[in-house]
Amino acid sequence: MYQVVIGACAAPLLSFDELLAADANPAGAGWSRPDLVWLQGASCSGCSTSFLNIEQITILDFLTYFTRLLYHPNLSSATGDQVPQILNKLAASGKPYILVMEGAIPAGMPHACMMAGRPIGEWVRLLAAKASRCIAAGTCAVSGGVAKMTGTLTGAVSLDEFLKQRSIKTPSVNLPACPMHPGHLVYTLLHFIKSKGLPELDDARRPRRFFTHSVHERCPRYAAFQARDFALRIGEEGCLMELGCQGPVTYNDCVAIGYNGNTNNCVRAGHPCIGCAGELFPRPLLYHTHVDPGIAAGIMLKRT
Ligand code: SF4
Ligand code: SF4
Repeated sequence: MYQVVIGACAAPLLSFDELLAADANPAGAGWSRPDLVWLQGASCSGCSTSFLNIEQITILDFLTYFTRLLYHPNLSSATGDQVPQILNKLAASGKPYILVMEGAIPAGMPHACMMAGRPIGEWVRLLAAKASRCIAAGTCAVSGGVAKMTGTLTGAVSLDEFLKQRSIKTPSVNLPACPMHPGHLVYTLLHFIKSKGLPELDDARRPRRFFTHSVHERCPRYAAFQARDFALRIGEEGCLMELGCQGPVTYNDCVAIGYNGNTNNCVRAGHPCIGCAGELFPRPLLYHTHVDPGIAAGIMLKRT
């Protein structure tokens, strides 16, 4: 079972099982099913795909029993004129709903990302302003990610930056990683649904439950790091620091919970952490190494 225990947290440490108990509400009085709308900006849909991999509950149960999904670009059958009708009706309804934002917003080149004939930024502004909560799903939405890396021309901004520039005060939660871990989103939403509040957040408004510890702190290669036993090529035994591992400066519980049913994660598989949950992701040279000239040469060849 997915269970992460982190100390020094003021909010109750509710487990997935407690949150999923159909009728029980461990944190107080009854709960109701919130409306949910999901928008995609400059993204690869990877966080949507990751979301479908939730393991603690079927995606169908989550989207129909615990929430009511009004619109998702990949999952909804609504197309064409139906989409703006759904979104405009929701914005005008005055009802509470949660907005999940996947991808950055190309604020400097609005036509780079259009939906129903309008720049995605206009939809975000309309829907975020009236949402009861916003959730930035994945690194592109949290800090710009791939869409904001050096050399891109779209003027992409994160959800936070976008809301701040427009003085939109809707409380938001940041769930970085590329892709976002499905458990992070589902836990956050279930916590909100069942307790009417968010899990405790850090200064970057990330749930402490998931982002308190660095990858390095929990790495199975930490003993090798202490022994100064460094791998010189990807896949070798030993600490991956000499291969550019970003584990010491990246905060995420991916080592503890893994992806795809805890099958694996990067450092467990022998690949350096590339800092996908960090705000500087992606760096121009993701696999930067001072040691392995073959890898460096390969990168340079691909980039030229
Ligand atoms: S492989 Fe990376 S995360 Fe693991 S001990 Fe080495 S530097 Fe730290
Ligand atoms: S090890 Fe690093 S790159 Fe891999 S999932 Fe975790 S934070 Fe992201």
